[in-house]
Amino acid sequence: MNIHEYQAKEVLKGYGVKIQEGIVADSPEAAHEAAVKLNAQTGTSWYVIKAQIHAGGRGKGEVQETGSRGVVLAKKLEDVKEKAAAILGGTLVTIQTGAEGKKVNKVLIAEDVYYPGASEPKEYYMSILLDRATGSNVIMASTEGGMDIEEVAEKHPEKIIKEWIDPKVGLQGFQARKVAFKLGLSGTAFKEMVKFITALYNAYVGTDSSQFEINPVLKTSDDKILAVDAKVNIDDNALYRHPKLAELRDLAEEDPLEVEAGKSGLNYVKLDGNVGCMVNGAGLAMATMDMIKLSGGDPANFLDVGGGANATTVEAGFRIILQDPNVKAILINVFGGIVRCDRIANGVVEAYKSIGDIKIPIIVRLQGTNAEEGAKIIDESGLKVQSAITLKEAAEKVQAVLEG
Ligand code: GDP
Ligand code: MN
Repeated sequence: MNIHEYQAKEVLKGYGVKIQEGIVADSPEAAHEAAVKLNAQTGTSWYVIKAQIHAGGRGKGEVQETGSRGVVLAKKLEDVKEKAAAILGGTLVTIQTGAEGKKVNKVLIAEDVYYPGASEPKEYYMSILLDRATGSNVIMASTEGGMDIEEVAEKHPEKIIKEWIDPKVGLQGFQARKVAFKLGLSGTAFKEMVKFITALYNAYVGTDSSQFEINPVLKTSDDKILAVDAKVNIDDNALYRHPKLAELRDLAEEDPLEVEAGKSGLNYVKLDGNVGCMVNGAGLAMATMDMIKLSGGDPANFLDVGGGANATTVEAGFRIILQDPNVKAILINVFGGIVRCDRIANGVVEAYKSIGDIKIPIIVRLQGTNAEEGAKIIDESGLKVQSAITLKEAAEKVQAVLEG
C-alpha cells in the first residue's frame, strides 16, 4: 500500500526521523492558514507547495489546467493561496503518472529547508528495500540525490552505495557509519546522517514496509539531515498488524475497478489488453495470460477469483471485467479442484442471465472435477458462451473470436 508524502513524513517522524516540516491543506484558504501556522511553528518565511499524489516526479511535472509545476516555492506568505489554487483540483502529469495524470486533492505546505548558511544545501538519495535474492534488507544511498536515480544506476553504478542488512541481526552501528562515510560526510553532518539512517531503518522494520525511498535526503546549510520527500510502501499482507497505518489508505488514488474487486474478495489487476480473463488461482491466472498472448491476444486484466469460486464471485468478476471498454472477449479458465466444474458452469450461466445483454463472446474452459458435466451445462444453456476443455482449444477459440 502506498501512502502520501505528508502521511509518510508523519510516520517517519514518529520513529525519530528528521523531516522537512509541513501542514497538509485541501483548499487555497486552508493552504494560506497552513502557511501562517507553519511560520509560527518553524519561523520559515518561504513556503514549498507540494501536490500530494501517489506518484513522483512532481517537481518537474505540470498541472494541465494551469501550467503550474507540482512543487513550487512561494517567497511571500501572500503568494501561497494563489500558487496552491493553481495546483489544487488540477490534473498533474509527471513521468510516473502516465499521460492521463492524477487529480490533486491535497497540497502539503512545507517549510523551506534550502536556506543559505555556512555551507551549500546538498541533496542525497536513500532507499531501503527487500533484496529477495539475498533474503535481506538493503540500504541504497547516493550523493546524486534529487535526480532520476534509475539514470544514475545506469550511467554511474559506482555512485550507488549498497549496504545489506541481515533482518535477524538488524542494522549494526558500523553499517550506518559506513554509509554516512561513503557519502563523504564528516563532523556534525556525519553524526546526523548516522542518526537519520538508524531511525529510518527502525521505521522501515517497525511499519513492515517493503520499500522506502527518500529522494532527496537533504543536508541543510547548517548540517541537519532531513527527509524532504518520502515514498513509503507498506506490505499489504502486514497491514492487519497496523490498523493505524491501514487508515492512511487513500482509495481516490487507486484504480476504481481494483477497489471494487477488493470488496468482493477478488484479486484484480487492470492491464491494457483486449481479452478479459477470470481464473481461479494466481498460478493458473499467470499461465492463462501467457496463453492469451500466445494466441495473439493481450490480457485485459489479471483476475483471480480464488479457490472457492461460486455464482456470486463469478458474477462480481463478470461485472468488473465488463466495465473495461477495451475487452473484446472473456476467457474463463477454472480448474475444478475444491470447486466442482458443474457448479462453476451454473454460476457462469446464472451470472450471464443476471447481467443480461452481454455483447462480447465468452469462452469457458473447465477442467477437473465434473468438467464434462460443466461443458454440457454451458453448451445447453443457449447463451453465447462457448466451452472448451483443453487449454489449446480455449486458445484457438479466443483467437477465432479476435479474428472474426
Ligand atoms: P518529486 O519531484 O515528486 O520527487 O518531489 P520532491 O519532494 O522530491 O521535490 C522536488 C524538488 O523540489 C526537490 O528536489 C527540490 O529541488 C525542491 N524542493 C523541495 N523542498 C524545497 C525547499 O524547501 N526549498 C527549495 N528551494 N526547493 C525545495
Ligand atoms: Mn522526490
